[in-house]
Amino acid sequence: MKQLQEKIIQEGKVLSDQVLKVDTFLNHQIDPPLMQAIGEEFAERFKGSGITKILTIESSGIAPSMMAGLILGVPVIFARKRKSVTMNDNLYTASVHSFTKNVTSDISVSKDFLKNGDVVLVIDDFLANGQAALGLLDILKQSGAELAGVGIVIEKGFQPGGEMLRGKGIRVESLAIVESLENGTVEFREEGVS
Ligand code: 5GP
Repeated sequence: MKQLQEKIIQEGKVLSDQVLKVDTFLNHQIDPPLMQAIGEEFAERFKGSGITKILTIESSGIAPSMMAGLILGVPVIFARKRKSVTMNDNLYTASVHSFTKNVTSDISVSKDFLKNGDVVLVIDDFLANGQAALGLLDILKQSGAELAGVGIVIEKGFQPGGEMLRGKGIRVESLAIVESLENGTVEFREEGVS
């Protein structure tokens, strides 16, 4: 997605060979018109898949998911990283090791919102090692819902998550695939090459 690539080039900060900071438009401050374009792109790529719900993880997955949900006309559920006092035991839970924080934590989703018969699009901001995606897929499996595919805003193609998910036969649609962050420079994978 050209508009997203341009934004990453203009505003992304390469923190190391492994980590890209995009807190001017996705991870802290949010750019609504760009989120709208991202939502439209996800909706276009997954139209016709019969999606009934979008599942993401707080907090940075929520903005792109909301826009995709608005366009597809389906609810958006975000897995919570901390249990809320209003959440009871009626939960699906999974363990996720965080790439950026280097801690393992439980994520949870109320059983009220995911059911057998749902067709779910999983969305997240970044794909690195695929741990967040695996946690969400674990929750989907527990619920009996069907996975339509995984939509990622920025995939780091030099880390193993994308290959691991695609190797399981999962449809992964990434709007920008970063091939390298070496020498402080962002290099993208050409579109159509996976
Ligand atoms: P994974 O679970 O695929 O290893 O990592 C994905 C999660 O880690 C995303 O939800 C995202 O929050 C965070 N993450 C991974 N790599 C980066 C990165 O380079 N930059 C930022 N801002 N977040 C990242």
